[in-house]
Amino acid sequence: MTDKPGMTTSAGAPVSDNQNSQTAGPRGPVLMQDYQLIEKLAHQNRERIPERVVHAKGWGAFGTLKITGDISRYTRAKALQPGAETPMLARFSTVAGELGAADAERDVRGFALKFYTEEGNWDLVGNNTPVFFVRDPLKFPDFIHTQKRHPRTHLRSTTAMWDFWSLSPESLHQVTILMSDRGLPVAPMFMNGYGSHTYSFWNNDNERFWVKFHFKTRQGHKHYTNAEANKVIGESRETYQEELFGTIDRGEFPKWTVQVQIMPESDADKTSYNPFDLTKVWPHAEYPPIEIGVMELNRNADNYFAEIEQAAFSPSNVVPGIGHSPDKMLQARVFSYADAHRYRLGTHYEALPVNAPKVPVHHYHKDGPMNFMGPKTGATDAYYEPNSMGGAVENPGVKEPPLKIDGDADRYNHRIGNDDYGQVTALFNLFDDGQKSRLYANIAAAMAGVPGEIIERQLVHFDRVHKDYGNGVRAALKDAYQYEANPVAAE
Ligand code: NDP
Repeated sequence: MTDKPGMTTSAGAPVSDNQNSQTAGPRGPVLMQDYQLIEKLAHQNRERIPERVVHAKGWGAFGTLKITGDISRYTRAKALQPGAETPMLARFSTVAGELGAADAERDVRGFALKFYTEEGNWDLVGNNTPVFFVRDPLKFPDFIHTQKRHPRTHLRSTTAMWDFWSLSPESLHQVTILMSDRGLPVAPMFMNGYGSHTYSFWNNDNERFWVKFHFKTRQGHKHYTNAEANKVIGESRETYQEELFGTIDRGEFPKWTVQVQIMPESDADKTSYNPFDLTKVWPHAEYPPIEIGVMELNRNADNYFAEIEQAAFSPSNVVPGIGHSPDKMLQARVFSYADAHRYRLGTHYEALPVNAPKVPVHHYHKDGPMNFMGPKTGATDAYYEPNSMGGAVENPGVKEPPLKIDGDADRYNHRIGNDDYGQVTALFNLFDDGQKSRLYANIAAAMAGVPGEIIERQLVHFDRVHKDYGNGVRAALKDAYQYEANPVAAE
């Protein structure tokens, strides 16, 4: 006798032989009636689901958000009240690489969080950078095409990347962060996370505040140079998974200090920059970060596919006290992320255990593929709403205050009145000499094979940030490829 569980078919019948297929004779052929053979092969054919178009390669873990500060005058969200502790899931990722990409590649990192709050799931789907390459969602698919494979060569194209960036000056802030030291972190715990978009808080008096979220690493920033990363990738393509899984498995739990920047609702009309522009930060001197708590990752997933690959994060998931903002990119992601999951995982992706809220769910969505949950309306005869059958009803007590619309359309037009350079200059001025020279060299390396016309167009943008920036890249291009760039244009 053995104490191991007996193997069964997926229909629960005991399996007598999992070593030999059923055959007509000792040498074959196999029989059509060998349903278990057919079932195994058919399952194998279906083991993959569509890969995420962006953020395909990821690493994740579970943890806790603990609130130590008091921001109750800004938000009624229960998960953000003093003393609250909320279970959560984090998934980090690279943006451009496919599922088999190496981890230690220069790229923006996704920093996606799901908080299983007592008022439903709140997802904050950010990056390790506070800004993004574009500010209008109409440009997002084009931008992502430049990060993916060329249709004819089936290779990634540095020409496409710099062509797009040089024609889209709003990308310069993010490009500079990407090419700086922070563009290549050693592992997820050595980088900050940012909600990136402007969200909003609303309190018990229905007052709205704009908010930015920051997660500051307590492990310190650690980065690879390009040369270090090349060596690392030569030895292992899975260093993030090894580091994150290994660290948590050893009982060492990475932590991030959680901060918010708060802007009174009416300030949005006064700032010199559009506070809903995803290519801009809110300067700390104007809106100082307020520490509100700590996020700790302390449990690895038991099954990567079920809990990390199937984890579905979407900025559409907000809870009472947290809302969106006029940020156009955020508005588009509210649709686009949930839609990606409906396509990738199926209609009922929110019901998968990793995505399911920890609170009762009541809605009137009906049927559809893989509906294993049964009715969620709260009463068997209530399959429409309104009804007099005892089904779930709306709760006007959680109605969000109206989002005021700014009538000045030009203010938010991405081509008018935008300074795409000033905040990049502020960042450039934070870099010491070593950081600057690595920035120049990283850019030169990333420009390999790019036509001179595109390089020259991009150099003008660097010049506008700081003459040293443009000249530094010129010198690095000469070092790397003997490329003789045009000198800085006279003022
Ligand atoms: P501050 O000097 O007050 O802000 C500094 C911020 O920049 C900190 O969050 C810091 O992160 C981060 N930072 C410091 N060194 C680097 C670096 N080498 N690479 C990337 N980030 C770095 O000034 P401002 O708020 O006026 O911001 C100046 C510039 O800093 C911005 O234009 C933006 O590019 C960048 N930045 C600003 C952030 C913001 O929310 N205001 C957030 C992140 C970057 P840390 O504390 O982890 O070192």
